[in-house]
Amino acid sequence: MSSVTSSCKEKRNYKFRIYPNKRQEHKLTSWLETCRIVYNSALADRKNHFIRTGNGLTRIAQQVILKTDKTKYPRIKEVHSQVTQEVLFRIERAFNNFFRRAKAGEKPGYPRYKGPGQYKTLTFTQFGDGLGASFKNSKLKLSKIGLVKIKLHREIHSKVKTCSIKREQSGKWYAILTVEESPVLYSPNRQSIGLDVGIKEFAVFSNGKKITNPKNLQRSERKLKTLQRNLSRKKKGSKNRAKARVKLARQHEKVRNQRQDFQHKLSTRLVWKYGTIVVEDLQIKNMVKNHRLAKNISDVGWGEFIAMLSYKAESAGRILAKVSPHGTTQECSRCGNVVPKDLSVRTHDCPYCGLVMDRDHNAAINILHRYKAS
Ligand SMILES: [Zn+2]
Repeated sequence: MSSVTSSCKEKRNYKFRIYPNKRQEHKLTSWLETCRIVYNSALADRKNHFIRTGNGLTRIAQQVILKTDKTKYPRIKEVHSQVTQEVLFRIERAFNNFFRRAKAGEKPGYPRYKGPGQYKTLTFTQFGDGLGASFKNSKLKLSKIGLVKIKLHREIHSKVKTCSIKREQSGKWYAILTVEESPVLYSPNRQSIGLDVGIKEFAVFSNGKKITNPKNLQRSERKLKTLQRNLSRKKKGSKNRAKARVKLARQHEKVRNQRQDFQHKLSTRLVWKYGTIVVEDLQIKNMVKNHRLAKNISDVGWGEFIAMLSYKAESAGRILAKVSPHGTTQECSRCGNVVPKDLSVRTHDCPYCGLVMDRDHNAAINILHRYKAS
């Protein structure tokens, strides 16, 4: 399949787990705290300056202040200069957003001070050999920190622009690499497919194929439930409860990452293979407020999946079509008659034309037909 590259570029983030050693972790944690202090003091400077003069303080002026502070406080000097300077960009963004929203007549909250532990991300604004952050020997090289082990589970095809290091609630560390990609437009493809959320499966296609959640995700979700139960059994305020809470947070993160990984791979494959992908319109569906509980639960992950499909389809020049979900399960995909069935009925068995097939498969065909008929 050939592809064309369009000229407009779009930003995209890739998130990878990193494994800093004890010494590196200690340093990164200390940098986060330093950046928090820089952030808070820059915020205070802006406030005070405004009270005294009635004017705002620019980022350039704040950079001069930061330079003097560096000579006074050695801990600022320990942090890579790109990283501390980026803090000032963040402050600038926060204020710009504040003023933009105030101007638009909204009531935005004034930028706030960050409490201990609330500053979670360090950003190296330049990436590449000899710059603040780069790749070296399959590791992530961070200036003043050293070589950090990184798990590159996905390929990056474009040049990395910036690198952020994030500490999650669970204590795990991640590198978020931002790239600018030229969207690759795929060549035209007349193949189309309908997708339905399965009850037992993640999705069922109009060609009859079923996609189940991968085994590792299923296992992690089961474990999540066990941990939730464990937590509720622990005494309030006890040490064991605190421990159980950390365990649960870690598991939540694991499930989230595994689900995202699975959905990324599936959506990429679908957009590559089909010119048109048809799904039910979730917004209409939520308005209908049905009592199909099992289905509503799976909708949570489904919504995120549709969002992924949507941006991937757009940047590849493919079509993601949304159709009305009304009655897609009940209608017979061969003769169009309504065959009522509740959740427990797994098979579509049409008394009018004799069609017998899996209920979700029948629904997926209806979804595809709806698009073609429109
Ligand atoms: Zn029929």
